[in-house]
Amino acid sequence: MQIRSDMLSGKTERHLRELSVGCLLHEAAIEPFMAFKAAATQQGFDLQVASGFRSYKRQLAIWNAKARGQRQVLADNGQPINLSCLDDREKAFAILRWSALPGCSRHHWGTDIDIWDAGAVVPDYVLQLTPSEYQRGGPFYDLRCWLDDHAEAYGFAEPFAIDRGGVAPEPWHLSYAPVAQQFEMQVDLSFIRDVLDNSELVLRDTILVNLDEIISRFISPGFLSKPSEKHE
Ligand SMILES: [Zn+2]
Repeated sequence: MQIRSDMLSGKTERHLRELSVGCLLHEAAIEPFMAFKAAATQQGFDLQVASGFRSYKRQLAIWNAKARGQRQVLADNGQPINLSCLDDREKAFAILRWSALPGCSRHHWGTDIDIWDAGAVVPDYVLQLTPSEYQRGGPFYDLRCWLDDHAEAYGFAEPFAIDRGGVAPEPWHLSYAPVAQQFEMQVDLSFIRDVLDNSELVLRDTILVNLDEIISRFISPGFLSKPSEKHE
């Protein structure tokens, strides 16, 4: 399938299929995910997808709400940051730590998912998607260990497993590598500039001034082709 720029930037749903109510995935990722989920079930996990495809519009709304101080931006320690104390550059980098630039989120592709284990918590558990839930002592630590050892065999990679100084570690984020790699290769400077040119993005001028650094730290293609390191 040819990857057009509207598929890359989350502006179409035509390559997607419904995995469950409200959750869309790339049509080529549905069966691999079902096989992966079945393997997890055999090990006693109740694998659930918290987030699959996310549209450009949705990502833009999240970004702009954060940039305007209407939605929390967290520091590495999990505490909310007071954005009014930051200049525009600091604001943009603080948001990028946890939120992708609209148009450049891997969730736009339909190949990437955030997962958790519904069997490890009480039925009315409110999922946070915070590192502590996936660390030793957290409810999803067992799932994380299993993912580290088995996700790859089913085609799923962990692009944000370790902290490279850009996007904060997201042990819950998996990427269906055979398809995601093809998307990843299409993300280049002209695509990113085009997305920004046609964007109602708050902090857009700041992003443009700092674009080289932002690309190398937060968007840099080739996550999947870099050797992965296992967590402790
Ligand atoms: Zn994610």
